[in-house]
Amino acid sequence: MAATNHDAAHTARPAIVPLLGHPVAHSLSPAFQDAAFAHAGINARYELWDVAPAQLPAVVARLRDRAILGANVTVPHKEAVVALLETIAPLAARIGAVNTIVKRDGLLHGENTDAGGFIGPLHERGLDLAQTGVVLLGAGGAARGVAVALLDAGVPALTIANRTIGRAEALARALGHACVAPLALDDPVLRAHLASATLLVDATARGWHELEPTLPPAMLAQLPADALVYDLTYRQTPLLQAAAARGLATLDGLPMLVEQGALAWQHWIGQAPPRAIMWTAALAARAARQ
Ligand code: NAP
Repeated sequence: MAATNHDAAHTARPAIVPLLGHPVAHSLSPAFQDAAFAHAGINARYELWDVAPAQLPAVVARLRDRAILGANVTVPHKEAVVALLETIAPLAARIGAVNTIVKRDGLLHGENTDAGGFIGPLHERGLDLAQTGVVLLGAGGAARGVAVALLDAGVPALTIANRTIGRAEALARALGHACVAPLALDDPVLRAHLASATLLVDATARGWHELEPTLPPAMLAQLPADALVYDLTYRQTPLLQAAAARGLATLDGLPMLVEQGALAWQHWIGQAPPRAIMWTAALAARAARQ
């Protein structure tokens, strides 16, 4: 498999790695993936392909072309793409979503590196997840990967609080784990869950556009002083600002973005990814946007 990828990567024309999403123009991924290809001397280029849902099957079929090394998949295609691939990794099957496509002998194989990308920065901080109660805000595609990663890491309690309670309940049922409790985001019971959590994860899409934090400051105040607030959005969101103002440790989504990309790179290229190069390029790309 790796030999096939390397052949493609060393032809005169660059091999292509597309990101399939809708929209995709905002993505920081080309900046750090291309920096990694250049650093490793790999003749490949990361491209943004804006793919409307109706076009997805035809575009995925095109990935079997020799010039394509592999692909990333983002909103809204991570779930729909599963049915279009020949094989799916067990973790991706459990999450029900694929964000990375790898070619194996011309066949398309689906992986999920969002879960590893999420958990990597927590391991790096030395967090003992087996001793960490977690409140997770959101029950969409990203929250699903986060929940599976946290349960696999052995967290003893996981509260899933979502604006639409039915979606939190459906996710809790699908996870089928006794330590998972679904709640509505505005349920007053959430206070008690926050008081016993040392990790708060915001996996809602709210941080991109809303001016108010996902939780009001009075709720945030319930968290213990040693809690970490982790927002998957890769910018300084109102939630992270409010948490920092309270003296809590914070983590934004850029380390996750780079780590999921590094794990994807490893699948495509079959080599250890140049993480430091990727991180520097991602920071620069984000700074250029601000
Ligand atoms: P999604 O499937 O569309 O789910 C969106 C979630 O956000 C749902 O739980 C939704 O609640 C909630 N939400 C949206 N607007 C809200 C609001 N105004 N107030 C409260 N809740 C709100 O999206 P997704 O794929 O899970 O992505 C979620 C976020 O994670 C996005 O910001 C995305 O950029 C980020 N993400 C980051 C990375 C990374 O590498 N850093 C990777 C993946 C995703 P309802 O169910 O009530 O609608």
